[in-house]
Amino acid sequence: MPDKKAVGFLGLGKMGLPMARNVLNAGYPMVVYNRSASKAQEFVDKGATLAKSPRHVAESCDLFITMLADELAVEDVMNGENGILKAAHSGQVWVDMSTVSPMFSRKMAQYARVKGVKMLDAPVLGSIKPAAEGMLMIFGGGDHAVFDDVLPVLETMGKEVFYLGGTGMGTSMKLCMNLLLGVFMAGLSESLLLANKSGIRNEQYQKVIEACSIVSPGMKSKVGAILAGDFTPHFTLKHMKKDLMLILDTAGDLGINLPVSEQALERFSSAYSAGHADQDYSALAAHALHPEEQEEAE
Ligand code: NAP
Repeated sequence: MPDKKAVGFLGLGKMGLPMARNVLNAGYPMVVYNRSASKAQEFVDKGATLAKSPRHVAESCDLFITMLADELAVEDVMNGENGILKAAHSGQVWVDMSTVSPMFSRKMAQYARVKGVKMLDAPVLGSIKPAAEGMLMIFGGGDHAVFDDVLPVLETMGKEVFYLGGTGMGTSMKLCMNLLLGVFMAGLSESLLLANKSGIRNEQYQKVIEACSIVSPGMKSKVGAILAGDFTPHFTLKHMKKDLMLILDTAGDLGINLPVSEQALERFSSAYSAGHADQDYSALAAHALHPEEQEEAE
């Protein structure tokens, strides 16, 4: 069997960490970078190399993957003073798995192209558990041949890996899915409020939800956590708000209106301002039930 080529992985947050573990466990030599270096220690213990800066990743790998918080973080890591593009060269491939907008993906692909780097957008659907189990859905956009080349690496992280078309198409599909996630959670929060004010007991509500085919298994487990008051962050509320903003920016770019998404963004923005930003996005329900309660700022 031919030796596997080294993979650079940048961004070891809630998602990046389990995703990178799967790449490493599949036998790829790795170079890792995270802004807070301590999160990379377990990779170093398992033989990976710790890069001091994003630039060092580009100096040692021909394939690098980013899984970062938002567009600002991707800009920093790619275009910053010690960013990847400072050392990048022709023939390298960059896969951005962060959730960003298709316009941003296309802009970054152009920056990369100037250096001869081919970029794919490949955001993911699924949270920490599917990430840990290598069961994410991955939406790829960019050159099809480049996508085929990196498919074995993507398949270490995802069970269903789709090729959607040119640059930005993976990101577009991801935003279509997160529109559903945001709007559904906003609806669930209102449903819970209505139940609560109507005098329906939590146990009754949960039993009906469990039996109800219109609610997905993922949302059913969220209802249990909401009713138990457990908002441990899997997908943070600040990221859901970010994604709704990306969705509306994209809609603006396409000249369409998404009034339901606008309403959902308003609700998430209100919960964000009330101190729920770093909780799970399901904390929207707590905010709907108790809008007067301001969380203690950390
Ligand atoms: P996270 O836990 O907040 O991790 C964010 C990562 O970005 C960390 O590695 C962080 O470094 C890094 N970062 C942030 N700002 C940076 C900057 N300016 N420069 C360099 N690095 C920076 O987020 P996550 O939940 O893993 O999500 C990552 C991406 O996946 C987001 O775009 C999110 O929308 C998307 N996503 C999340 C989920 C989910 O369920 N969590 C599911 C699908 C998609 P530090 O460790 O130093 O802070």
